[in-house]
Amino acid sequence: MKNIDRQCPECGGQLVIDAWETVNTNDDGTFHMESSLVYKCIQRCGYMKEVEDDDS
Ligand SMILES: [Zn+2]
Repeated sequence: MKNIDRQCPECGGQLVIDAWETVNTNDDGTFHMESSLVYKCIQRCGYMKEVEDDDS
């Protein structure tokens, strides 16, 4: 996790980049993890936004 210079649109708190992991179960009973990067508010307002590649 690293600090970035962004503000939460909900509460004005700082946003940090965090990894969000999801476990998906396949039809054959196996499962795999998918991870993506999200912006997450350090305050507890619950704001979270997926990091977009074309962020500029
Ligand atoms: Zn917030």
